[in-house]
Amino acid sequence: MSKKKIDELHCSFCGRTESQGATVLPSPAENAGICIDCIERAASMLGMIEEDDDSMGAARRARAKHHAGGHSHGEPEKLKKIPTPEEIKAFLDEYIVGQEQAKKYLSVAVYNHYKRLDQPKDADGVEIEKSNIIMVGPTGTGKTLIARTIAKLLDVPFTIVDATVLTQAGYVGEDIESLLTRLLQAADYDVKRAERGIVFIDEIDKIARKGDNPSITRDVGGEGVQQGLLKLLEGAVVNVPPQGGRKHPEQPMIAVDTKDILFICGGAFEGIEQAIAHRLNSSFVGFATSNNGRRVERDNLMRHVAPQDLRTFGLIPEIIGRLPILTHLLPLDRDALRKILTEPKNAIIRQYTKLLAMDGVKLEFEPEALDYIVDKAIEYKVGARGLRSIVETIMMNPMYTIPSNKTKKFVVTPQFCREQLEEAHFDADAV
Ligand code: ADP
Repeated sequence: MSKKKIDELHCSFCGRTESQGATVLPSPAENAGICIDCIERAASMLGMIEEDDDSMGAARRARAKHHAGGHSHGEPEKLKKIPTPEEIKAFLDEYIVGQEQAKKYLSVAVYNHYKRLDQPKDADGVEIEKSNIIMVGPTGTGKTLIARTIAKLLDVPFTIVDATVLTQAGYVGEDIESLLTRLLQAADYDVKRAERGIVFIDEIDKIARKGDNPSITRDVGGEGVQQGLLKLLEGAVVNVPPQGGRKHPEQPMIAVDTKDILFICGGAFEGIEQAIAHRLNSSFVGFATSNNGRRVERDNLMRHVAPQDLRTFGLIPEIIGRLPILTHLLPLDRDALRKILTEPKNAIIRQYTKLLAMDGVKLEFEPEALDYIVDKAIEYKVGARGLRSIVETIMMNPMYTIPSNKTKKFVVTPQFCREQLEEAHFDADAV
């Protein structure tokens, strides 16, 4: 995946990172690791997973029991109380800076989705249809974070899958149905729970067919994959390989009905501004002169994204029709990056402050140090995702020495930040 950071632990087998939901065990070898899902997959290939005394199987059963919370696996689970759209948005505000439209649209769509699931069957013949969602916006602007945060609020099974693993389908890629394997795993194989879960499909733009858009250079056989995906989005009973990967005849399948699964798709759709500009007024393109000018134009254009732009980009109309809620995310400016450092509930600076407070040390960042960190993220063009790597690099030495010396207070200055990044040979490519 293009945005995978070298310094983020990832599974050397399936490639997923911790931020994509994988729990990765690091290897002593540099940059290597394996996730729990792959361990389970390997164990099942060796016939270990069905053993009663197998510890992973036991752990999984224990988790299943815990999450089922008294529900039998046969009954659909109801959310205790669906938070109102305003409550959902308020919760999102605690974690996500800016992106007002996306947060609002998602709050309404998710609220309606779960209300729909509770609609009485025998009512007046009015059937509320499912509203899957598509978010368009540059990488690292909060698409995954929004989806993940909503799932946390609702306590429903949630998984992130990457559409790019499907691109080579037919040879080494995965079958479409395997998208649901991870949801099943997230629901501890409780099918009824999984059937009310949320699937976030990342990089949906990568399965666009090679179309009018010149920025699509890879031939990914997009249309076939899109047709397969359509079935899931529409709602169908599909046979899911419980261990993922490609189906094979001996493997027992689990039937999963996707009609109540909410699909949230996200993609950067790089270059879509041209399609928007062309549709609105082709002279828009000519505005991109100064850096500042380009940003204003980009922002403005993204606000106008419409279904036909997705079509121009290479999504087939049937897929677009099944993603009726379309919203956008904006590039993060300096102000937003500065807020991301300190304001969200689990902001990186807050995390370090808490970590050191546990050692009885008061951590303080001078405001100029925070500005310096933001400057570096902009200079290296690493965005919000890079903020964490920069702060981690700066804090590595203090985190090493502070617990064993008697420091009571530690103040981070811009000078200290500069020295630490230089000493660590901080490199934007590593973000
Ligand atoms: P995307 O899915 O759009 O590529 P992510 O949601 O994975 O981006 O963002 C990467 C990381 O950057 C997040 O985990 C979060 O730490 C930070 N981040 C990005 N956008 C925001 C935002 N709007 N508010 C707070 N943090 C953000």
